[in-house]
Amino acid sequence: MAKINDNYLKLKAGYLFPEIGRRVRAFAEANPSAKVIRLGIGDVTRPLAPAVLKAFHAAVDDLATTDKFAGYGPEQGYDWLINAIIEKSYKPLGVSLKTEEMFISDGSKCDCANILDIFALDNVVAIGDPVYPVYNDTNVMIGRTGEADDKGYYKNIVYMPCNEANGFIPALPTRKVDIIYLCFPNNPTGVVAGKAELKKWVDYANANDAVIFFDAAYETFITDPAIPHSIYEIEGAKKCAIEFRSFSKTAGFTGVRCGLVVVPEEVTGTTSTGERYSFNKLWLRRTTTKFNGASYPVQRAAAAVYSDEGWTQTREIIDYYMENARIIREGLKEAGCTVYGGVNAPYIWLKTPGGMTSWDFFDKLLNECNVVGTPGSGFGPSGEGFFRLSAFGHRENVIEAVERIKKNLK
Ligand SMILES: *Cc1c(COP(=O)(O)O)cnc(C)c1O
Repeated sequence: MAKINDNYLKLKAGYLFPEIGRRVRAFAEANPSAKVIRLGIGDVTRPLAPAVLKAFHAAVDDLATTDKFAGYGPEQGYDWLINAIIEKSYKPLGVSLKTEEMFISDGSKCDCANILDIFALDNVVAIGDPVYPVYNDTNVMIGRTGEADDKGYYKNIVYMPCNEANGFIPALPTRKVDIIYLCFPNNPTGVVAGKAELKKWVDYANANDAVIFFDAAYETFITDPAIPHSIYEIEGAKKCAIEFRSFSKTAGFTGVRCGLVVVPEEVTGTTSTGERYSFNKLWLRRTTTKFNGASYPVQRAAAAVYSDEGWTQTREIIDYYMENARIIREGLKEAGCTVYGGVNAPYIWLKTPGGMTSWDFFDKLLNECNVVGTPGSGFGPSGEGFFRLSAFGHRENVIEAVERIKKNLK
């Protein structure tokens, strides 16, 4: 008799995006002439940069020739891509990494999930609230948690509320934890952490022999030069932090698929018999056994992001989204809303006017403005009373959506 992994039954049904879809469909059926503008989902809309596309095409052509054909590559990624990222993206930050410390993948969602393979189940995990749901649900799936309570908090996970009072930056946990998820610039709040805030976490991790999972999927959207792009800009982080990055939002690779993990050699944990062991070694073993590498043309396209031309063009696309973010942020402010994020991140996190619940505000915006956003409560209980708007839309839609919201709320 084949038995299932019962942990999956503990998961709350994927409620947020299906429910949004259901409400939008019902509205569109009842109002077929309404032009609905979607600023909800965190997916990009601009095409790939021309230099990236050119490299992608050229790499596909390589596969059509006998001398340049590429079969299996190194499971952990090609050196030419890893070294380009280290040189162009980490060195300018004053961060030096070894080739062996970086692993190329098919995206950050998988990496955030797979990393749990190399950690014992009895580690205590701390997760922000609200949060990117992948961190929580993958811990449920792997069997680290008990059941969820009425709020949606799972037993055995330490939740760190992020709210207006703490500026959406979690306080250090009062209970000792072993693994801490941090995401800056944050999805969904759009908030960033400065060096002092990150130092607090690095010091905590080193003092408590904990590991930080640092999700930097949105680092290229940082505009303030004082904000760190990598956790390794913080002294001591190479001893305690694993960093995740992705080409998805950075370079429009949500459909192309490429990400990376940095596992510094100095990050260690203890074996069940008490000896220190390197997580880098375990991750290499896991990667070479369970993964056969991101595809060759994809890695060529990713490397082209770091060519001079590719980077200039990629920056222009990021600037386009950040101008959208400015339009949304300032428009909402003019409409009298309290807004967070949108300066160093493509998300605007707004406080629902008049103390409405997130879902009531969702319905109001859909019915009265025909604009779709994401209810903050869908990212965790502390998101209640907040609402996320994404800057990844087309400019003319963003402008129109903001005009409609301004008219409605004034
Ligand atoms: C979009 C996103 C990612 C990237 O996911 P990919 O699998 O690389 O597309 C990672 N973390 C967060 C918080 C995100 O919003």
